[in-house]
Amino acid sequence: MTAQTRLIDAIRSTLGERSLTTDPDRILPALTDWRGRFHGAAPAMLLPASTAEVAAMVRLAGEHRVALVPQGGNTSMVGGATPPADGSALLLSTRRLDRIRRIDAAAGLATVEAGVILQTLHEGAADAGCRFPLTLGSRGSATVGGLVSTNAGGTQVLRWGTMRRLVAGVEAVLPDGSVHDGLTPLPKDNRGYDLDQLLIGAEGTLGIVTAATLRLAPAIAARAVAWVGIADPQAGLDLLRRMQAATDAVESFEIIPGDTLARVLDHLPDARPPLGGSHPWHLLIEAVAATPDAEAPEALLARLLGEALAEGIAADAVIAASEAQAEAFWRLRDSLSAAERAAGAAVQHDISVPVDRMPRFMVEAAAAAEARFPGTHATAFGHLGDGNVHFHVRAPAGADPARWMAEAAPGVTAFVHDQVVAAGGSISAEHGIGQMKRDELARLGPPARLAALAAIKRGLDPRNLFNPGKLVTLAPADAGK
Ligand code: FAD
Repeated sequence: MTAQTRLIDAIRSTLGERSLTTDPDRILPALTDWRGRFHGAAPAMLLPASTAEVAAMVRLAGEHRVALVPQGGNTSMVGGATPPADGSALLLSTRRLDRIRRIDAAAGLATVEAGVILQTLHEGAADAGCRFPLTLGSRGSATVGGLVSTNAGGTQVLRWGTMRRLVAGVEAVLPDGSVHDGLTPLPKDNRGYDLDQLLIGAEGTLGIVTAATLRLAPAIAARAVAWVGIADPQAGLDLLRRMQAATDAVESFEIIPGDTLARVLDHLPDARPPLGGSHPWHLLIEAVAATPDAEAPEALLARLLGEALAEGIAADAVIAASEAQAEAFWRLRDSLSAAERAAGAAVQHDISVPVDRMPRFMVEAAAAAEARFPGTHATAFGHLGDGNVHFHVRAPAGADPARWMAEAAPGVTAFVHDQVVAAGGSISAEHGIGQMKRDELARLGPPARLAALAAIKRGLDPRNLFNPGKLVTLAPADAGK
């Protein structure tokens, strides 16, 4: 009998039949990541329904020395929630931790369990007359626990920040089975290291998040969404800076190259291009008003875009004439990842550089990658206002996709990441490290950060039982303990 089988029996007899499944058909979808690049194995998927059940499972896993891989919506872009291929770990799904415990609109706080899907949280907040101001293309699947654990970003970071700013407190089970309860937010709390912040972005390596208290924003009284054609990314940044000088109402500022938009339109046959002519670059801009007496976002965008058109910063622009058209614009943006995935082999990077350097980086790094890897096509899109783009290098036409990915991808990634580091940036802006970028993080450092990450991991999870093989590289002696 293996340690895994003994653990499964122990959990079943302690917590009952519903606390896990060993049905291969139920487990199968959880063994491959969203992009289909990582494949794992797991003899069981744990299905706790409460924090107490998570704690009991963690204690039993510790006793049997079996690793656990927490999984929420399984939308990780870095293989973060895929278990190891040797079947040594059990999956722990948060899907039954699905309660919105409390929404306090007056205080602007919501306490929700880890398995609550982002879309459900949006709906719950809207019912209470407010909103949770973070959204992303995976909102129909991504969970609160996953968002906390990846410090997710999305398309409203410009105004509201990443999860790090939106989380007021975390409840989590630590590797020794103890429960950290940080759900009651305290504006002032100086008891040393901030455990909540440590757990945000830890990718399940330090704790299993069971619930979080999240900051809500006032409901939107009105919004306007514009689509703008521009000549190059620098024009995009110039426009952003002008808008930021004039107003704090701009929530989203996304950049999309013309050829990437064409792929989205191929991918969505019922969609229409927002602008008549063809443009090398496009912007999607959203401005909102929280109160009815604020300048109407539509008038605001019309004024600012009118000035940009007159001065030649923008080449063309349209403001959505209806909520349906605004949604249609956003659908184009939200479908970029799926369209890129459908378009074939590409090495993908989620990177950031200082915002002011981003326009140059987008153009120069793409040209350098294409010159270094002949036949490839490099493209960058995303959150220009955050200095974060998704930088894709597509396989040369006619190349065998699987072979090219296996042979060329590591060199392409190292080349792109070296440029990011030289520009003072980060090789992971919002997707995390997972298993995909672990070795690149170890290669590129910086050393002080790497040493601190490993020391924290060793301190809290000395037996390396929480999501092993992700984020942190441990010395072999640590990993085998
Ligand atoms: P999973 O994929 O299940 O897990 C992600 C990581 O968190 C893993 O390491 C896992 O072990 C850990 N984890 C999950 N739940 C817990 C828990 N309760 N406790 C501890 N650890 C846990 N990300 C962005 O930041 N911005 C974007 O704009 C964005 N757009 C996307 C668009 C698409 C179409 C897709 C598919 C993904 C996108 N992502 C984006 C990536 C992804 O959606 C986020 O990383 C999201 O936060 C993952 O949530 P999840 O519930 O799916 O987590």
